[in-house]
Amino acid sequence: MAATALPAACAVPQNGPLAQRAFSEPDHPYRSPFQRDCGRIIHSRAFRRLAGKTQVFTRRGSDHFRSRLTHTMEVAQIARTIARALGLNEDLTEALALAHDIGHPPFGHAGERALDEALQQFGLRFDHNLHALRIVEHFENRHLEFRGLNLTLAVREGIVKHSRDYSAQDHPELAAYLLDQRPPLEAQLIDLADEIAYLTADLDDGVEAEILTLQQIRAGVRLFELQFAPIAHSHPGAPEKLLFQETLKLMLNALADDLVAEIRRRVRERGIQDLEDIRRTPERIAAFSTEMEEFRRDAKEFLYHNLYLCEDLRRGHQQAANVIADLFAAWMADPALLPPGYSSQVDAEGAPRVIADYIAGMTDHFVLEMHRSVRQMVVPSRS
Ligand code: MG
Repeated sequence: MAATALPAACAVPQNGPLAQRAFSEPDHPYRSPFQRDCGRIIHSRAFRRLAGKTQVFTRRGSDHFRSRLTHTMEVAQIARTIARALGLNEDLTEALALAHDIGHPPFGHAGERALDEALQQFGLRFDHNLHALRIVEHFENRHLEFRGLNLTLAVREGIVKHSRDYSAQDHPELAAYLLDQRPPLEAQLIDLADEIAYLTADLDDGVEAEILTLQQIRAGVRLFELQFAPIAHSHPGAPEKLLFQETLKLMLNALADDLVAEIRRRVRERGIQDLEDIRRTPERIAAFSTEMEEFRRDAKEFLYHNLYLCEDLRRGHQQAANVIADLFAAWMADPALLPPGYSSQVDAEGAPRVIADYIAGMTDHFVLEMHRSVRQMVVPSRS
């Protein structure tokens, strides 16, 4: 797809200031710095734990639902394809995709909200991007010579900035990450590759869970119906299940093709020649076209109303919130009950932050196990 490639200088170079690490290391003879970052993320404990974390569905009796790990692999596949089509840095894009959900707590967004609420009582917040940065900078300890994974500056900057902007005033600790500049395109496209992955996957899992039906999706998601109608017409008598799967693929491709074309259009229209131009542009360059953006919003709204906020999932969200609130309260009441590696951090970081770090790292399974054991010791039972 060389015809869609951007000017070569728009890509983050394999070597240069953004490939620098906080602790300098000799170059590898045949792996790029960002390829090494992919390796370090894949081999981390936090990455493996994504297998035990909810994407949308918690323990619903099917082995076919996405976990955060399989979701992450889908995002990496989509993001790398888009980066290749545009001639961007594929290794960097893949590293950012692999790390994009590494800071997510157990129980999906319900878990994140519960942790954030618990921390707000102490004037703190939980933010999964900033937590991801703490993981790669502090909590992963697998190297003799440095703490954390010692990832390149581009990957750490992308972990912080891929999905939102932070003001230097509110976050002076992030000053090293060029907060007054837009992130490179490799980071900008991650959030959209994430959306492409989950918009289609959640329809799939929603049908698998028997919460959504094909008819409901056809009536409620215009982008789906646009792809479904012609192939149903050209394949009379084809099994519904295959038409559904085929349509999801077409929908995913339509979103990815649109993103590639729109990024290319914006770069051309604004006369962008290199990475510095991308960084100086007031708005993000990675976006869907106006028409596709409407389809995207429409699909997301459908998922909110019919899946994420449905009664069935809401019950699970409430249970998840209770479990996290109970654990948080129990350890606040007696931080000495934390494992030694965490209780020893309480003086330096304060109990609320240390407890949130500990809970955020847990898998769904482990947090429930901790809840059972800690509750027996201290928490008055919730009636
Ligand atoms: Mg994600």
